[in-house]
Amino acid sequence: MNVYHITYAPSPGIFFLYFWGCNMECRACLCKKEIYDCHLEETKRAIFEESKEVPQAPSRFLDLNEVLEILKGRDISQVIFMGAEPTIDAELPKLAKALHRKFHSYNILLTNGLKLISTKHIDEVVLSIKAYKESLHQDYTGVSNKSILENFSTLYQEGKKLRAESLFIPNYIDSPEIGRIAQFIAGIDRNIAYRIDAYLPVGNNPWRRPTPIEVEQAAQVARRHLLNVSCLRGDERLEYEVRRIV
Ligand code: SF4
Repeated sequence: MNVYHITYAPSPGIFFLYFWGCNMECRACLCKKEIYDCHLEETKRAIFEESKEVPQAPSRFLDLNEVLEILKGRDISQVIFMGAEPTIDAELPKLAKALHRKFHSYNILLTNGLKLISTKHIDEVVLSIKAYKESLHQDYTGVSNKSILENFSTLYQEGKKLRAESLFIPNYIDSPEIGRIAQFIAGIDRNIAYRIDAYLPVGNNPWRRPTPIEVEQAAQVARRHLLNVSCLRGDERLEYEVRRIV
C-alpha cells in the first residue's frame, strides 16, 4: 500500500493513516514542508518555521496486513485516511472494508476529490475544495476542478456523510473566493459542514500567513451561504496527545 506513516491519539481512539503520492500539485501543499503528522512533538513547531525544508520521501511502505497488525488490540473509534492523497491507492477500499469487519471503526476519508472511489466502507468524506473559479484552481493545483465539483455533488446524492474544507490564502484564495465555494456548497445543501483553514507559508510562494481575524472574516462570508461553518485560525492548541506508531 501507499501507507508510510501512522499516528494514534489514544484518548479519543483515533488512528491517522498517511498515504504517499498525489494526483494534483498544489502550490501550498504542506507535504512540501512536512510529510509526517504535524501534531507530533518533533514536528509541531517546525511547520511554523519559514525556512523549514521537506524531509526526503518515505523510505518504507506498509502492506495491508501490516496496517491491520499495527491496529490490533488498541481502542479504535475512528480511522482517518489522509496524508497526501489516499484515493490513488487501489487497496484503500479493501483496507476500509477490513477495518469495518475487524474493528468496527468509523472510517473517514480526507481527499482532494479528483478521483472517485468506492465509498461503501467509508463512513464520512471530507473533501478539500481548493478553489471554485476554474482559472484559480488551475493555477493553484495544475488541474481543472470540473470533476471535483461533480464528484462532490455525486457523493452527496449517494447519501454519503460529507464535509468540505478550504485553505484561506490572503490575496489569492481569499474571502470572495471562499464565498464562491460556500455558495457552490449551499447549492447542494446549506447544512453541509464547511471548515476554512489558515494558510501556513510553504515553499517559494509569495503569500503571507493570514491573521486570525482575516480567517474569521472569511468564515463570516461563508456563513452568508452555509449554516455550519468553522475555521482553524492557525493559533489553536491541540486538544489531545498524538503518538507516532510508524
Ligand atoms: S491535494 Fe493535498 S496532497 Fe495533493 S498536492 Fe494538494 S495539498 Fe498536497
